[in-house]
Amino acid sequence: MPSPDNKRLRVLLILLALVSFSFIVHYHVTKLPNYTCPVSGEAVDPKRFTEYKGKTIYFCCRVCLGQFERNPEKYEANVSQLN
Ligand SMILES: [Zn+2]
Repeated sequence: MPSPDNKRLRVLLILLALVSFSFIVHYHVTKLPNYTCPVSGEAVDPKRFTEYKGKTIYFCCRVCLGQFERNPEKYEANVSQLN
C-alpha cells in the first residue's frame, strides 16, 4: 500500500514531467521559422512544410502546401521576411 507521502511525491513527479514536456513542445514550436501559414494565415502544422529558395516554410494543411508549390510567386511577399 502506498503511503500518503508516496502519493504526493508521485503527483509532484507527474506535474514536473508535464511542465518539462510543455517546455519541450514550446521550444519545438518557437524554433519554427514561421508560425502562420503564408497561404491562409492559420497556425502551422510542423508536419507540413516545403523548401523554397533555401528556406523551410511551414503550412497549416496539405491544401495550402499544394497551393504554394503550384504558385510560390503569389505568396513570395508572405515568406520574404523569413530567415
Ligand atoms: Zn491550410
